[in-house]
Amino acid sequence: MELSLNSATVRKQWNLAQIVEGCARHGIRGISPWRDQVAYLGLSKSASLIKKHGLTVTGLCRGGFFTAKDWRDDNRRAIEEAHALGAQCLVLVVGGLLPGSKDLILSRKRIEDGIAAILPEARAAGVPLAIEPLHPMQAAERACVNTLEQALDLCDALGEGVGVAVDVYHVWWDPKLEAQIRRAGERILAYHICDWLVPTRDLLNDRGMMGDGVIDLPLVRSWVQRAGYDGFQEVEIFSELDWWRRDPDEVLRVCLERARDA
Ligand code: ZN
Repeated sequence: MELSLNSATVRKQWNLAQIVEGCARHGIRGISPWRDQVAYLGLSKSASLIKKHGLTVTGLCRGGFFTAKDWRDDNRRAIEEAHALGAQCLVLVVGGLLPGSKDLILSRKRIEDGIAAILPEARAAGVPLAIEPLHPMQAAERACVNTLEQALDLCDALGEGVGVAVDVYHVWWDPKLEAQIRRAGERILAYHICDWLVPTRDLLNDRGMMGDGVIDLPLVRSWVQRAGYDGFQEVEIFSELDWWRRDPDEVLRVCLERARDA
């Protein structure tokens, strides 16, 4: 599998222009930028720089947060940006509980309604929406879609134009993972890799480099490939205590080296 770099992996050290140039320098052929970095550089400038270096945009991070106040406009903009960048999908971090609420069922219903509401625009723009199930520890604040099964049930209900982003960090523990990856088939729009460290020191920003943790990456990759996915594997590491503190050229070198065995 070819490697794509999720720009969050070196966001503390480099801006988007530096990240794109770093990818080109290291022979990394894919990139998945975050919207704040795109906004900082400018949308058309970002698009032309990525194009100039011939990088495939494996996803745009992120749309979603359907339980937040301004979800409608924000997702509309995200779809436009994904279209302008030629992104293979818009990654959806769907949002947690409604503000001040304990109603998980209602929150999940709002999320389904929100995706349904933006779907016509996404289809018209040719931007597939990738629902990314997040580890249940993030259900309250970031996403109350927490398993691949749940995400695929949403895809079934919503129809064409919606798929999933499989991120090993969020789904590796799931006893139904193999079966649900098989079920996903061509609805797998993105495959994100990193590793689960033992111990994990921070719930959000202590992801490990491939090979440093306990996820059986070759096994999960074999399932994803058997399901028919032949796109990039995208390395996505948020690491306050380690990789965000290192020389970014070293980070990219290690990503390439470890991805070969992942
Ligand atoms: Zn991810």
